[in-house]
Amino acid sequence: MELNCKHVWAYISDYIDDSVPPELREEIERHLEHCEICSAILDSTRNILVLTGDDRTFELPVGYSERLHERLARELADETNAPTTG
Ligand SMILES: [Zn+2]
Repeated sequence: MELNCKHVWAYISDYIDDSVPPELREEIERHLEHCEICSAILDSTRNILVLTGDDRTFELPVGYSERLHERLARELADETNAPTTG
């Protein structure tokens, strides 16, 4: 059976944690090879997990997250031209 994107999303954090069975891992990898959306999601999920996964080792230079937030806010502002939010 072929995995679809929603299956991959459901398993993506387990996949990163390496806690999926080998057969499923193979199916996910096969899907990732041809699906840019899931590859991108995997990358960003991985980055988020690195940042939030273990707050005892959360050691970013002071100002880093501030700059990151600033940049994200700016990019979001550029991309979303929604007239009203919230
Ligand atoms: Zn996909």
